[in-house]
Amino acid sequence: MLIRILGAAAGGGFPQWNCSCRNCADVRAGKPGFRARTQCSLAVSANGSDWVLLNTAPDLRQQINETPELGARADGGLRNSPVKAAVLTGGDVDFIAGLLNLRELQPFSVYGSARVLATLADNSVFNVLDSSVVPRRELPLGTATPIEGGGRDTGLVVEAFAVPGKIALYLESGASSDNYGSREGDAIGLKVSAPASGKSFFYVPGCAVVDPELAARLKGAALVFFDGTLYTDEEMIRQGLMQKTGQRMGHISISGPEGSIDALAPLGVKRKIYVHINNSNPVLDENSPERRATEAAGWEVGLDGMEIRL
Ligand SMILES: [Zn+2]
Repeated sequence: MLIRILGAAAGGGFPQWNCSCRNCADVRAGKPGFRARTQCSLAVSANGSDWVLLNTAPDLRQQINETPELGARADGGLRNSPVKAAVLTGGDVDFIAGLLNLRELQPFSVYGSARVLATLADNSVFNVLDSSVVPRRELPLGTATPIEGGGRDTGLVVEAFAVPGKIALYLESGASSDNYGSREGDAIGLKVSAPASGKSFFYVPGCAVVDPELAARLKGAALVFFDGTLYTDEEMIRQGLMQKTGQRMGHISISGPEGSIDALAPLGVKRKIYVHINNSNPVLDENSPERRATEAAGWEVGLDGMEIRL
């Protein structure tokens, strides 16, 4: 199985277009130790030729153009694409807006929870993907689902599972409630398997807390891509960027007693990579003490173009 990080940043990317926080200013200025990142997406292939996208970021056109394996093949006919399916983990703009780049009547499949498919159905702009060419398929929670598309069986099987999290910001309702209209399944993680090779990994780009159920699931995994949005819960407040904690946004912190470093430490995961990294996060500075602490704890900080073979 081949896995390629297309984008390792959270919504807004790095740098974010309207942000001059220290990180964004430094990466824009080309300061050593800072590398730009596009918004969160992975591409996976079991056979090296058919690819499945895990989330479709607004940057998808750029990501495809920077990844030769995902481009149209010179010998594949006038119109062709190795992208056979897109699997969506939520209705957030940075997870679904990239679908709009995939118009042009190219057959592939879109997989998402019933809630995500309802969001696509409610927004008529997604009808540029003609459903007779680009079928939308429900990805039920807790069921290993073979991923097919463009007339191909990709050889990948995906199981979606609910994780503690939050509904997409623009779908929030009930501001007085504790969970802002979130329901089980608004945040999901994926277990991606290639049955032919027996390999599998986990992709959890948004998660509020590692509860015992999630910990049990990740135990002993070969590879986990995990929510690296924030280093500390009040990071965005302290930097004056937003009056919301990580918890309010549905994102666990990397550090601290409730953080993901401590939560995953006892689970025996062989390789751990942070993705969905917000531009405020000090781990984006390769020379920061936070970056050193993260790497010393056995984690990698995801970067666009990173390739992993399982
Ligand atoms: Zn910034």
